[in-house]
Amino acid sequence: MKRPKKIALIIISILLTLYFIASVIVPKKVDAKYNTITLKPPYKVSAKAQELYNSLDFIADMHCDALLWKRNLLKKNDFGSVDIPRMIEANVSLQAFTIVTKAPKKMNFDNNTDETDAITLPYILQRRPINSWFNLTNRALAQCEALHEFENESKETFKIIKSVSDLEQYLANRKKNKNITAGFLGIEGMHALNGKLENVDKLYDAGVRMMSPVHFFDNKLGGSAHGVSKEGLTDFGKQVIKKMQAKNMIVDISHSSPKLLDDIFEISTKPIVSSHTGVQGTCQTVRNLSDKHLKQIAESGGLISVAMFEPATCNNTPASTAKAIKYCIDLVGVDYVALGSDFDGAIEIHTDITGLPIYVEELLKLNISKEDISKVMGGNVKRFMLKNLPR
Ligand SMILES: [Zn+2]
Repeated sequence: MKRPKKIALIIISILLTLYFIASVIVPKKVDAKYNTITLKPPYKVSAKAQELYNSLDFIADMHCDALLWKRNLLKKNDFGSVDIPRMIEANVSLQAFTIVTKAPKKMNFDNNTDETDAITLPYILQRRPINSWFNLTNRALAQCEALHEFENESKETFKIIKSVSDLEQYLANRKKNKNITAGFLGIEGMHALNGKLENVDKLYDAGVRMMSPVHFFDNKLGGSAHGVSKEGLTDFGKQVIKKMQAKNMIVDISHSSPKLLDDIFEISTKPIVSSHTGVQGTCQTVRNLSDKHLKQIAESGGLISVAMFEPATCNNTPASTAKAIKYCIDLVGVDYVALGSDFDGAIEIHTDITGLPIYVEELLKLNISKEDISKVMGGNVKRFMLKNLPR
């Protein structure tokens, strides 16, 4: 072999080895660094709260970003909030796995553009498929595929719900065996469509059943609460919402600018969900919903899924989440209120998923009845999904 060729081969092998080592070490370190938990498990609550928690027939959470980190969800991890063993341990029936495909560097709550992208490097280091490194639709498809792989390897302990009949079958199975759990796929920010309406079909075919128009920056559909324009729905945005609702995909309004919210309610013909939100009534930040929009969600027959982290509740405690839940119940009635933790959303959260009994304890302290707690903890999600998923 000629000398320059030999040197090139040596350099390539060194680079590949370094890449391999980095891909083993870095993603786990980044995951553990960004998804922190204030109070470590195991969690203790009063006998009354634990008994009520254990009696719940369907516990559900409408938002988590666990798929972003390439974590092995089949294994019980000692970092982050969600994996399949901990979902089963927590008696959780349904977890939304919401996909993030692009996030601005130096992300903030007030003013982000789409010019930077903090997801490219993690995708490369996570050894995702090369076609997903620089392509947002493919990034979403890679996360869908990852959840399907977990389902395939879960020995029937984990099911992805895509239809009413899937859910009915799963509910029948779960009556016989509590050691199984389920999830469904969502997307945060429809820049994941790469600007193409037909990609709605592609993502639907990959199992996605819920999508929010925007995430942290404005995109081709309209303005984010954290973007620059604060605009409403574009014509493309309107086409996408219509197409989604025709396919019985759930429209999630999380992160929308107030004008975008108004426009979505104006054209929507189906129930609207906020998969992870706080409320202006207990915490005035740009990401939280006003009373007007909370009432519009309820009028649509949708769900207000209350989040569990500081920018949503102004305090990273279960008590502050419970306070926001109570506010929603008092404002619109209990039937439209749910949990939307934002587990593993690059946030500090009070507990991992096995800490959900603490939220029951806090709801009891606010004199919320057992029946209403059962609706908030998952009963409403079950009813909603049975009614609104595709047949
Ligand atoms: Zn979010």
